[in-house]
Amino acid sequence: MSNNELKINNHNFRVIKNSDSNLLFHVPSSSLFELDETNESLINRLDNKKIESFSKEEIVELEKLNIVGNEEPFKYTEVKNFPATTLILNIASGCNLSCTYCYKADLETLSNSGNMTFETATQAIEHLYEGAPGQKLYNVTFFGGEPLSNFELIKDVTIYATKFFKEKDAQVDFTITTNATLLTKEIISFLKSYQFGITISMDGPKAIHNKTRLTNSGSGSYDMVRKKVELLLSMYDKNRPIGARVTLTRGITQVEEIWDHLFNDLNFSEVGFAPATASDNAIFNLSEKELVDVFEGFKKMGEAYIDSACKGEFNGFSNLHRIVGDIHAGRKKKLPCGAGVGLLSVSYEGDFDLCHRFTGSDFPNFGNVKTGLDKPKLSNFIEKRLNTNDGDCSTCHIRNLCAGGCYHESYIKYNDPSKAVLHYCDIMRDWIDFGLYTYSKIRNDNPEFFDKYFNEEKGDTNGLI
Ligand code: SF4
Ligand code: SF4
Repeated sequence: MSNNELKINNHNFRVIKNSDSNLLFHVPSSSLFELDETNESLINRLDNKKIESFSKEEIVELEKLNIVGNEEPFKYTEVKNFPATTLILNIASGCNLSCTYCYKADLETLSNSGNMTFETATQAIEHLYEGAPGQKLYNVTFFGGEPLSNFELIKDVTIYATKFFKEKDAQVDFTITTNATLLTKEIISFLKSYQFGITISMDGPKAIHNKTRLTNSGSGSYDMVRKKVELLLSMYDKNRPIGARVTLTRGITQVEEIWDHLFNDLNFSEVGFAPATASDNAIFNLSEKELVDVFEGFKKMGEAYIDSACKGEFNGFSNLHRIVGDIHAGRKKKLPCGAGVGLLSVSYEGDFDLCHRFTGSDFPNFGNVKTGLDKPKLSNFIEKRLNTNDGDCSTCHIRNLCAGGCYHESYIKYNDPSKAVLHYCDIMRDWIDFGLYTYSKIRNDNPEFFDKYFNEEKGDTNGLI
């Protein structure tokens, strides 16, 4: 760079073009600005780095935004407290299905299942409160294996937690992720009376679902799951959305067909897709070409999301909805998710893990409900991820929305969860750019959509997540 050239920080801004107006995404502040003609010409002139192309005032303005000039020196961030308000209780290690791709390393059949005791669950809840006292809202999530195989514990813990948090003048909400097969009218009535948020693991129409989601005897589980889902949706409170979670594995890339079945035929309120890129068993990972196809499918679904949003409706495509929510809230994530800081997972034996994906894996835990959370160890882990000045992430324009990706994927891919997930960054950047384009379209055509759907999502813009 010669003396009369500006130092341009391309990773600190992004121009989002759409047919109505162009926007500038300012990366350090996670803010979007509409570009008028003057500003657009200013940004366009950055291609020509010559200092004499800019007035003094323009250079000062660009420096303030960190679009040109030297950046702030790196500052080490310490994390010593872990005020988690979400607790994932892995209450049963066993499952009554045998999905071919299941990641749970400790998965047992139901007869060998390790079940959490009431004492372990209540100790975990007490730990949660002690770690983050005085909050207004807590969440307890029941997970497995198949959590409904231990329904008696769900009942007891729900009643206990409701009373426990009421005495602390706080609220608690409950969520569960289940394969639906063990649902009964009695169970649904109970979940309804405590307003559970429910996510059903279901992979699409019969031919697709039955490829991988098998019973222990090896037959497809679709008919059974569908029957139970229909019962659940007929009985449940319409104000409490029930979502489907779809795992996309090798050979399964039919995003639109799956969404259409789950949203339009079965009437789920939301459909979220989890593309397998780093499964324990690599043969289930989507190939590179398949991953590209999946994200192309996401973009087609995204166009439908935009059309619905412009009419004031949500089409249930939760992968994009989450990104739009993050952009709307101006999130500046330093960590990819709440694992370890906003949420803790507890194994049926009472061990603390970063999240449910680590529970049952051979990655070391962070203490136990009996001995307490190992804060120094957790601090080391989180600080390593936060402060490792990974060149790929520090110069990436989506760093504040991606923050290096899922710890568990890194663990499987590189055997080190503190590393960033770098194996599909180009696809992620393209996808987040699509999220920015989506946001700008809706902002232009129907900004009321954000008030309707994201009121509660405005939030932690200055924290870690
Ligand atoms: S993991 Fe990749 S996409 Fe994510 S912030 Fe880092 S470099 Fe960017
Ligand atoms: S570590 Fe990965 S699987 Fe666990 S909560 Fe975070 S994003 Fe999800």
